[in-house]
Amino acid sequence: MRVLVVEDEPDLRRQVSRALMEAGYSVDEAPDGEEGQFLGDTEPYDVIVLDLGLPKIDGISVLSHWRQADRDMPVLILTARDSWNEKVGGFDAGADDYLTKPFHMEELLARVRALIRRSAGHATPVLECGPVELDTRTGKVTMDGTAVSLTAHELKVLSYFMHHQGRVVSQTELIEHIYDQDFDRDSNTIEVFIARLRKKLSSELIKTHRGRGYSMSPPGETV
Ligand code: CA
Repeated sequence: MRVLVVEDEPDLRRQVSRALMEAGYSVDEAPDGEEGQFLGDTEPYDVIVLDLGLPKIDGISVLSHWRQADRDMPVLILTARDSWNEKVGGFDAGADDYLTKPFHMEELLARVRALIRRSAGHATPVLECGPVELDTRTGKVTMDGTAVSLTAHELKVLSYFMHHQGRVVSQTELIEHIYDQDFDRDSNTIEVFIARLRKKLSSELIKTHRGRGYSMSPPGETV
């Protein structure tokens, strides 16, 4: 899962990015509204964390622009304390959730998880696919109730499939959602991650659709 953080205060931006990376997300950063708007226009994010008070273009304008352009990714806005009119303006512009500064990083992570889950149509934090369970709060994976140890990248790939079960995910889509902007992307590595996941979990769960991509669905269900 890939997150964009648009925040002009450098310390806060770094803290938020670091917390998200430690939680297993790929993170891009933008220090102002102009760069944030451009990245949100051109890259596919699973969530955007958007400060409202930003240089060059303010957050509400950026969000309104995305929604008018039919960019429908979940957006969590950061607002100043006691600024109820900012919250109202943010929701009217198309925000999905908000956090008031200062906030606890754990709360930001919980809200990001919930937004990603809900936008993929999942109501609970533990995702299931047949015998595999992924706890999105901890990143713990079990297979038939037994803990499975995955590398950070294997977990990113599995998490994307678990959130988007029952449909074909192209290699490009997968690459765009598991690597940040600066990562040296090599499509061969996707095949390596999938081979390892099949070995560690089950060879049945992730299917290859030749020329189209991969899908994950519970045993017995076809895509
Ligand atoms: Ca600001």
